[in-house]
Amino acid sequence: MRTVTLIPGDGIGPEVAEATRRVVDATGVGIEWEVHEAGLPAIERYAAPLPPHVLTSIRTNKVALKGPVTTPVGTGFRSINVALRQELDLYASVRPCVLYPGVPSRYESIDLVVVRENTEDLYEGIEFEEGSREVEKLRGYVKYMHGFEIAKDAGVSVKPISISATEAIVRFAFEFALRRRRRRVTLGHKANIMKFSDGVWLENGIKMADTYRSVGFEEMQVDELAMWLAHAPEELDVIVLPNLYGDIISDLCAGLIGGLGLAPGMNLGKEYAVFEPTHGSAPDIAGQGRANPIAMILSAVLMLRHLDRPAEANSIEQGVARVLAEGRVRPADLSPEGRSSSTTEIAEAIIETL
Ligand code: ATP
Repeated sequence: MRTVTLIPGDGIGPEVAEATRRVVDATGVGIEWEVHEAGLPAIERYAAPLPPHVLTSIRTNKVALKGPVTTPVGTGFRSINVALRQELDLYASVRPCVLYPGVPSRYESIDLVVVRENTEDLYEGIEFEEGSREVEKLRGYVKYMHGFEIAKDAGVSVKPISISATEAIVRFAFEFALRRRRRRVTLGHKANIMKFSDGVWLENGIKMADTYRSVGFEEMQVDELAMWLAHAPEELDVIVLPNLYGDIISDLCAGLIGGLGLAPGMNLGKEYAVFEPTHGSAPDIAGQGRANPIAMILSAVLMLRHLDRPAEANSIEQGVARVLAEGRVRPADLSPEGRSSSTTEIAEAIIETL
């Protein structure tokens, strides 16, 4: 029996987590869940949104399934998602985007994967506040070194991109493509403008791609990539991006396949893996039993593949595809008008197909 850390989270998290757990258990895969609180319930109980014993549990089990968690603004707590990434060195964020028949969309077929670098870029938090002494010093330095005048009333964020992080994520994207029998990796960048950050990304991405000759490769400016995604998403396969572009493009891709309620995700490092839906805790609909659990159920599908349980993973994914195609369920986020299916009804409909 395999033990997995289960973090239901808060907002709609506990509802979609319970639905997911029921679906996974119904396959008979025999996972033992070690359930831990994080987010708002953990703040109430332990005065910390991510108590140390939760991290210990993930480190022991190596794999976690996590619902959305809220980090309250202005409380001095650092974001739980950022803390998890840093503590567990989850350097790759992977978001597969599949369009299932029956889901309203402008497109006919989409099956792509966004691989996002998770540790650096503008997310490293090197920031200089507008009007601060630090930004004044930086302005002086930039003027002295480069003769360039930063506007007096500007705030500044710094964008570091390293050779090592680029190599790690591009290697990851190719290994993923090989394992999943994908045909091509597209590397997005803006190296013509950001010569020294995206320049490092592009140059070292191409070098890494050269070592994987059996998978196709192309590089593309990220604006052109956005245009292709809107125009012909079926043309794209695995897309590898630095942190910020990855954040934006992966939500765009979630929109292409029917929205956040259907978009699963995983954060992977060398040792640990955390599987979670793309959506947040959606406090506006929490506690109403209306949340769509499919994004979290599909995150569990990714987890089962990671745990080398392809039969159970495929069975759940086919079940999801079937209930959507046959219109047996009407998730609230896909059917804004008329009666929608409850979280439990959606889980039960999927269980019936197993
Ligand atoms: P964040 O935690 O990222 O700030 P959030 O919880 O406010 O985000 P998102 O996840 O971005 O919200 O979702 C935006 C809105 O989409 C939600 O407020 C909710 O109405 C809807 N939504 C998100 N996920 C789901 C879901 N699984 N089922 C139904 N509706 C959803």
